[in-house]
Amino acid sequence: MAAFKLDRAAVLKSAEGLIDFVNKGPSPYHVVEECKRQLMERNFTELKEKESWEIKPNGLYFVVNNFSTIIAFAVGGQYKPGNGFNAVGAHTDSPCLKVKPRSNRSRCGYLQVGVECYGGGIWHTWFDRDLTVAGRVVVRSSEGLEHKLVHIKKPILCVPNVCIHLARDDHLKFAPNKENHILPVLATSTMQELQKPIDVSSCPAGSVARNHTPHLITLLCKDLSCSPGDVLDFDLHLADTQPATVGGALDEFIHAPRLDNLFNCYTALQGLFDSLPSLAEETNVRMVAMFDNEEVGSQSAQGAGSSLLEFIMRRISNGGSAVAFEESIPKSFLVSADQAHAIHPNYSEKHEYNHTPFLHGGPVLKLNANQRYATTAITASILREIAKKASVPLQEVVVRNDSSCGSTIGPILSAKLGLRTVDIGSPQLSMHSIREMACTTGVLQSILLYTSYFNNFTTLDASIKY
Ligand SMILES: [Zn+2]
Repeated sequence: MAAFKLDRAAVLKSAEGLIDFVNKGPSPYHVVEECKRQLMERNFTELKEKESWEIKPNGLYFVVNNFSTIIAFAVGGQYKPGNGFNAVGAHTDSPCLKVKPRSNRSRCGYLQVGVECYGGGIWHTWFDRDLTVAGRVVVRSSEGLEHKLVHIKKPILCVPNVCIHLARDDHLKFAPNKENHILPVLATSTMQELQKPIDVSSCPAGSVARNHTPHLITLLCKDLSCSPGDVLDFDLHLADTQPATVGGALDEFIHAPRLDNLFNCYTALQGLFDSLPSLAEETNVRMVAMFDNEEVGSQSAQGAGSSLLEFIMRRISNGGSAVAFEESIPKSFLVSADQAHAIHPNYSEKHEYNHTPFLHGGPVLKLNANQRYATTAITASILREIAKKASVPLQEVVVRNDSSCGSTIGPILSAKLGLRTVDIGSPQLSMHSIREMACTTGVLQSILLYTSYFNNFTTLDASIKY
């Protein structure tokens, strides 16, 4: 198999890069911050949506929306308005528990934090984990309102399992109630008597700080060096404190949270960077668009279901004819990159007989006759040619007729923009668990595929006879 021709040192280096990225991205806001840092390190310039833009050939730019969606693009040296976009799309969010607007709970001597389920997580995997919070806080300062990132880097929360002797039947088919059983514990009232939290009683009535356990506010204020009355609101995600790592007897697995879909955010971005040496000859715009809220259907201002990508493409197309944007679409292509299900040794019957993607087997083309994926024979052919140029093997997946099928941003953007799209993803296990599992070779395979896509798509597209 071609995968095993990959250089082992290069495979591990790419895997370590992804692991570092995942560890820095406990929330979509942190993911965007890390992407931004990597882009600026390579001289990409941030464009603000509120300002007017002057797009130049060979220019490197990015746009951030809601601090949770980021669209990076590199303009070809030969680009003219009306030329196309060679895009990869991914998502920055993952299923998680989020702190509720009024989270203050106490019961039986425990201080707890009310949480809401975000997306379709495998919630029983969140039990007995060493959890923390990460996200963003809007703080009032002398400058006005400030957006600050917060990540408490120690285990502060836990959702304990019920002891086996108390619920033998429940453990056979562990199905926790999402409202009653998944409340994490933050502290006990016994210890609270000894270690008083910040006093929030001085905060004005209606202050957000009063809606949460004072110990949680204490931790946030300490991390942000602010006072409780200045906390105007926040989006806090719960996250596992166990760092991502390489594992397996042969160092071939990646054990990590949020591989769906930080795997593709990372590899697509590296592919864009690795393609920059050929940018001067490019006639299209190379783009990586990473959206928030895919896990809840993409219908938000910063999601793939919004007009954001269209507006950005229109603005880049400015300066040509009145229909430059519309002309750009048939010259454009989207690789919708989201993780795929690898075959599971203990549940192999869940896969369709002839479509059983395997770890190390290369990125997976996702196809679905009912258009849950946007791949067509044409877009798959184009990707096969691109993969061949990079010697990256591809696999295919189709779900069983008696199984439900996931979906992703591909069909949404494809339908919205009338855009040729291929849905792909790297094979992984345990999708939507708090701890997912992928393979180290997959990282380099995806980077090589995206690099080849950015390097070769425009020339390949010009050679297509239809
Ligand atoms: Zn996903």
